[in-house]
Amino acid sequence: MELIKTAKLQIYLSEEDKALVLASMRAYSAACDHISEYIFTTGDRSQASVQRHTYADVRTKYGLPSQMACNAVRTVLGSYRANASNGHKAVKCRYVVPQLTLSWNRDYSLTGDKFSVGTISGRIKAGYSSCGMEKYFVKEKYRFGAAKMVYKHGKFFLHVSVTCETEEPENCDIRNVVGHDRGIRFLVASYGSNGKTKFYSGKAVKQKRAHYQALRRELQQVGTPSSRRRLKAIGQRENRWMRDVDHCISKALVESEPAGTLHVLEDLTGIRHATERVRLKDRYVSVSWPYFALEQKLVYKARERGQKVIFVDPRYTSQTCPKCGHVAKNNRNKKLHAFTCTNCGYTSNDDRIGAMNLYRMGIEYLVESQTGTSGLRGAQSAVPQCSATAAMPIRCGSVQRTTGQPQARSFMAE
Ligand SMILES: [Zn+2]
Repeated sequence: MELIKTAKLQIYLSEEDKALVLASMRAYSAACDHISEYIFTTGDRSQASVQRHTYADVRTKYGLPSQMACNAVRTVLGSYRANASNGHKAVKCRYVVPQLTLSWNRDYSLTGDKFSVGTISGRIKAGYSSCGMEKYFVKEKYRFGAAKMVYKHGKFFLHVSVTCETEEPENCDIRNVVGHDRGIRFLVASYGSNGKTKFYSGKAVKQKRAHYQALRRELQQVGTPSSRRRLKAIGQRENRWMRDVDHCISKALVESEPAGTLHVLEDLTGIRHATERVRLKDRYVSVSWPYFALEQKLVYKARERGQKVIFVDPRYTSQTCPKCGHVAKNNRNKKLHAFTCTNCGYTSNDDRIGAMNLYRMGIEYLVESQTGTSGLRGAQSAVPQCSATAAMPIRCGSVQRTTGQPQARSFMAE
């Protein structure tokens, strides 16, 4: 199976090369605009034909070398195709921001410490931020693809598409199971085969989200053009920060586990129950947290490391006794954050119960997948709800590419 991700790196250019690269990017964007004009007015969508009609102009007027001229046609046709698939057929694509699309090995190449790129007047070499890039040079596992050069805030960045060969472990090869419960007090509580619980505190996140929310409310009341601009900037900053938190947590979750690990998460697709168990004043802070982005990141990172992710029915995970399987609402004392099983007397901090139950469901899933029958009969007969749980379809970690905001699922609507 293949995963495609985008590696972002900063390019360090000398002053002289900066001017050269920027001139190339500007020429490229201008050429794209020229090609776009042709495509828009003629309706021509064939690559060969567009190239035939624009190539001479692009070479002479904008000074692009031949490879770059071909790329420009591909870039523009790609934009029109993307627009058409999004339902915007009659829109002319504009290329205002300087950019450069590069094909691997022809227009650019990367070695461990050097970036080499073709410009309108010859090839140049430059250094780049290679931290975290080392792994991509393992040839059997990763392949570099097209890249895009971007100029932002006076700096040059390269967005490289990297294809990764991954293999999801077979169920019979799984040697380690971890349950991850996502919540309010703790963004994630994990319980694994080693019997240890790990917590990722939600306190700092809760405070920061509350801060952003207050800021937003204040600006909304002002309602001037400048306050609207600030509102937008703050929204973007909050999104970046949330993405970063998700990245750090998902990375920590997979890096601490070996290959052949099964991660078990609640399937929060039909999220209603999550809003039900969250107090109204906590809803913005906790429920609209981009759990979807977190799980996407987790699935990606797990796959890269030969680990597997499954999603199970979330009902009763916080009310079920992980030892005897007894389900009762009053097993849990929310105020005291204590869990005491009314059947067997097992007691624990209630924050880890969800994770322990998810862990148990992971084990059940493995037993079932290998025997073809329902496993853990003892637990099951004690918990009639559990057999219903086991019969629910289990969603395996799939990666859907989304283009929306991190809050792809609006939990607030409930
Ligand atoms: Zn019990």
